[in-house]
Amino acid sequence: MTELIVPPAALQPSQPGVTKFLADSVRKLYIGGRWVEAASGKTFPVINPTTEQVIAHVAEADKADVDAAVQAARSAFEGPWGRMRVVERTELLRRLGALIAENADEIAELETINNGSPISIARSFVGSTVGTIDYFAGSARLIHGETPSNDPNYLTYTLREPIGVCAGIVPWNVPFLFAIGKLAPALAAGNTFVLKPAEQTPLTAIRLGELVEEAGFPAGVVNIVTGFGLGAGSSIAEHPDIDKVSFTGSVDVGKRILAASAVNLKRVTLELGGKSPNIIFKDADLSVAVPTAVAGFTMSSGQICVAGTRLFVQREIMDEVTEKLTEFAGSLRIGDPLDSATDLGPLVSQEQLDRVTGYFGVGAADGARVALGGAAVEGTGYFVEPTVFVDVRNDMRIAREEIFGPVVSVIPFTDEDDAVLQGNDTLYGLAASVWTNDLGRAHRVARGIKAGSIWVNNYFTGDTALPFGGYKESGLGRENGLDWYKSFTEDKSVYVTL
Ligand code: ADP
Repeated sequence: MTELIVPPAALQPSQPGVTKFLADSVRKLYIGGRWVEAASGKTFPVINPTTEQVIAHVAEADKADVDAAVQAARSAFEGPWGRMRVVERTELLRRLGALIAENADEIAELETINNGSPISIARSFVGSTVGTIDYFAGSARLIHGETPSNDPNYLTYTLREPIGVCAGIVPWNVPFLFAIGKLAPALAAGNTFVLKPAEQTPLTAIRLGELVEEAGFPAGVVNIVTGFGLGAGSSIAEHPDIDKVSFTGSVDVGKRILAASAVNLKRVTLELGGKSPNIIFKDADLSVAVPTAVAGFTMSSGQICVAGTRLFVQREIMDEVTEKLTEFAGSLRIGDPLDSATDLGPLVSQEQLDRVTGYFGVGAADGARVALGGAAVEGTGYFVEPTVFVDVRNDMRIAREEIFGPVVSVIPFTDEDDAVLQGNDTLYGLAASVWTNDLGRAHRVARGIKAGSIWVNNYFTGDTALPFGGYKESGLGRENGLDWYKSFTEDKSVYVTL
C-alpha cells in the first residue's frame, strides 16, 4: 500500500506573485487589449486538485465573447500587427520570452496549484517555452518566399504570408507549454491569436495575458477566452472568421473540431491521444530501462499524451522486469505537488479520478491482475496509486483505451516481429520507445512502428526543431520544426510579365 505524504494542510505557494494572483476575486477575459467580463456576466470556479478547494473564479466566455475576440484579432491583423516589420514583431515575442523566464517560478507554481503536476515537472515545462519562443522568432527570419526562374518572359516568385486569425484550444495536462507551442509560431509568422485554455486549468493562460500586455503587444494580437468546450471551444471551431485552429486534446473532440472546421475550411492541426508502446528487449540495460519505463507511465500521474502505457517485455525477462518495475514504482512519493520531492501529484479532477479508478474494475473483469496499486488514495485530493497490470493481452480494454492515469499494462512478446505487430495493433500512433543494445534491431523497430516519435534507449526526449504529432487517430499534422512554422502561413505565387 502506497503511503500518502500530503501534509494535513497543503503547502502554501512560495512565490508572492501567486498569492497575489489568487487573491483577485474574478479573473476576466483578455479581449482587444482589455480585461473584460463575459458578456453573459457568468463565471465558473477553478479547483485545486490537491486540496479540492476553489482557488479562483473565472469569466465564462461563450459565443458572444469569442465573436468579440475574433473581431479584435481581425482588426489587429488588418491594422498595426499586419504592418509591422518582422524584426519588430519578433522583438516583441522575445520580450514575452524574457518575461516568461523572469516569472517562470511563479507560472510553474500557478500551474501546479491548478493542475496538480509536480513542481519539478511544471518548472521544466514552463522553462522550455522560452526556447520555443526563441526558435519560432528565429524561424520568421529564415522562412520566406522563393524566386524560381523557369521562363525568361516572366518574373516568378512566391510570397509566404500569414493566414490571419489563428486559434489554439489546449487541454489541462500541460497548459502553458501547449499554449506557447501554438501561439509562438502563429505570432512569429504574423498572425493574430485567440487562446482557449481548458476549463479545469485557465490560470496560467490568464497570467500569459498579463505578460503579453506587459510586453507591449498591440491590442487584439493575443486574446484569451476562458470557458468550456461546449460554448467557448465549439464557438471557435465553428467560427467563420477564424482561419486556423490548432487543437490538443482527446480524439473525440478532435474529430468534432475537424468536422466543425468545414464551415469555412479552416486549417486544422490536431494533437490527440496515445497508447504508446514501450518495448524492452532482453539485451536492454534494465538499470536504465526499468526506471525510465516507470517515469514513462507515471510522469504527471500518467496524464501525458505520449505516456508509455503499454509496456512490452520480451518473455524471457518478464518476471525480472515485473519485479523491478513494481519495486521502483512502489517507491515513488505521492504527495503535495508543490513539494519538490514529490513524484506523483493528484489527478486533475474528480472526473478524471473516477475515470481512472473505473479502469481498475475493467482490467480485473477482463482477467488482468494488479501487481501494484489499483486504488485511489484515501483522503483529500484526487490521488491515485501508480498501478501495474500484468497478465494483460493487447486486446483488453486497458491496453486499447487511453486511461490518462499512472497505469501501465505489461504485455509479453516473443521476438522483434511480434513486438512490432503488437506495438502497432492500436488505433493510436503518437510515440514509442525501444530498449535494446542491438543497433540494427533498434533501427528496424524504429522503422516498423507507426508513430510520430520513436525513442531508442530513452523516453520523453523532445526538441522544438523536430516534428511532433501522430499517425492514425493520434492526430493530424505535426507541431514543432520549421514545417510547424510554415503551417501558420499561406504560399502565394506571383507571375509578372517582363
Ligand atoms: P480531455 O479529455 O483531456 O479533457 P478534451 O478534448 O475534452 O480533453 O478537452 C481539450 C480542450 O478542448 C479543452 O480546452 C476543452 O474545453 C476543449 N473542448 C472540449 N469539447 C470541445 C468542443 N466540442 N469544441 C471545441 N473545444 C472543445
